[in-house]
Amino acid sequence: MQDDLLNMDCRELRDGIAAGRIKSITVAEAVFERIEQYEPIVGAYITTFKEHALAKAEEIDAQITAGKQVGQLAGVPIAVKDVLCTTFGATTCASKILENFHAPYNATVIEKLLSADAVIVGKTNMDEFAMGSSTENSGLKQTVNPWDTSRVPGGSSGGSTAAVAGRLCFAALGSDTGGSIRQPASFCGVVGLKPTYGRVSRFGLVAYGSSLDQIGPITRTVADSALMMNVIAGHDPADSTSVDEKQAPVCDYLEKLDEPVKQLKIAVVPQFNAGAESQVQTAIADAIDVYKNLGAEIIEIEMPHLDYAIAAYYIVATAEASSNLARYDGVHYGHRSENAEDYIEVYSKSRAEGFGKEVKRRIMLGTYALSSGYYDAYYLKALKVRSLIRSDFTKAFENCDCIMMPVSPTTAFKIGEKTDDPLKMYLSDVYTIAANLAGVPAVSIPCGFDENNLPIGLQILAPAFGEDRLLRIARMYEARTDWHKKKPAIV
Ligand code: GLN
Repeated sequence: MQDDLLNMDCRELRDGIAAGRIKSITVAEAVFERIEQYEPIVGAYITTFKEHALAKAEEIDAQITAGKQVGQLAGVPIAVKDVLCTTFGATTCASKILENFHAPYNATVIEKLLSADAVIVGKTNMDEFAMGSSTENSGLKQTVNPWDTSRVPGGSSGGSTAAVAGRLCFAALGSDTGGSIRQPASFCGVVGLKPTYGRVSRFGLVAYGSSLDQIGPITRTVADSALMMNVIAGHDPADSTSVDEKQAPVCDYLEKLDEPVKQLKIAVVPQFNAGAESQVQTAIADAIDVYKNLGAEIIEIEMPHLDYAIAAYYIVATAEASSNLARYDGVHYGHRSENAEDYIEVYSKSRAEGFGKEVKRRIMLGTYALSSGYYDAYYLKALKVRSLIRSDFTKAFENCDCIMMPVSPTTAFKIGEKTDDPLKMYLSDVYTIAANLAGVPAVSIPCGFDENNLPIGLQILAPAFGEDRLLRIARMYEARTDWHKKKPAIV
């Protein structure tokens, strides 16, 4: 019974709970039992809220018994990345500098989850301030990949994807600045969606690269991704970059999910895909064949500026980060050094003690790129490259419905394999970054396994605000394959 429960998707679970067939409290207890058993191995969470969650579950059951209307996620246990502000528990961003930071407000997405009656299970581990591709840059703990505990879960939302894959929650929220939802989703064999920039409010998301950051769902199925989008998408007056719904209406992403997209035209970028490991390339080619057999037309295109995406991203993102992270000064927030002799040392020592190595590296890179004399040569040039990448996408989408490519050039790598070589780590983002630079939505869905039984992800990119079609395209594949039903051995 309990295994059946844990393997249900959010929609089934919610329907069962809302109809009174399943008790929300039974589900919450089952999740916490698993957390007690497997969290010591997986290390997905920074904080869990057992008492809070069980109380909320009981409240939902009582509402249902009393015949009251409940929300779209009634009783569904959900985890959130610890980069989202919550009034309950700390908001650490996996950084020592914020270890004891308690936010005075909830992020808009948290408010939305709560009003949809979700049960928030805990806050998940991540690379410090979302800077990384393996969750190894967490200043607080290590998370492993549930498919192979000697490997990384990907990053930076590795705690969220490991929790979803390891059945330590039913769905999670992550954030994606350059791939942090999609890459760990592909490493952990789950579905990760980065929505269009501006589709989901970023209010209460601790900023990394403000022109790139987006919050999105991490789920086991495409339907669950659509359900989560129904809850979190939409305009928010508290986030000036969130888009007016009159300009780009939010739709019911679940409603037409099972309607295949007719006359689907898919673009591939062969010269770009050639950089992936051969097993990844084969899985992507096989996935595209599935679409071909469904009647899709496949065209080959060139996107000449994609090769420069990594270079441009690591200038834009670090420049924005250096400015965003200036607020952690030992005065306004978090850790303050005990060894400071004067106020200058309060700043320098608090920052030196509080930030990890990678965060310091990025602050220095960004400060350098923005400094007088280098601004034009680096930052401005990166912005120009960004516009060229954007126009590559605009041109491509004039002639196709979506673009397909790998999510990552490799499957999950070994813990420690890339920690001594930051450039190697940065290169693992080669396929995910362009979507953030262009602001377009992109999803990672499971599309196979390598010889070590490690999941591979297919990435589908669509025009801005095309999440409904993007999810329908993803669902077409999911409906004909079983990859998403496979489970890691610990499940
Ligand atoms: N791996 C990328 C980086 O380190 C992306 C991170 C993210 O999307 N937050 O910047």
